[in-house]
Amino acid sequence: MDVARRWLDTNVTTTTTAPLTAADRCDRCNAQAYVRVVLPVGELLFCGHHARRHAEPLRDVAVHIQDETDRLLAEHGAPDAV
Ligand SMILES: [Zn+2]
Repeated sequence: MDVARRWLDTNVTTTTTAPLTAADRCDRCNAQAYVRVVLPVGELLFCGHHARRHAEPLRDVAVHIQDETDRLLAEHGAPDAV
């Protein structure tokens, strides 16, 4: 997976669980990220939409998943269909 390889060079040293901010963008579509998936080799950020699409396989390899999609509901109201 190319994205994971890219993160390897930049974010491998610190495992942060700081709250996600508007500056954190989804690795897939560049929307605001609400889920951080910490992998043994780095981390990935996803918006709510892509978190749901990719969470299933990533859950097997992730060391930590920070899910703030509840904030998405709080800030934007209507959830898209689950
Ligand atoms: Zn996305």
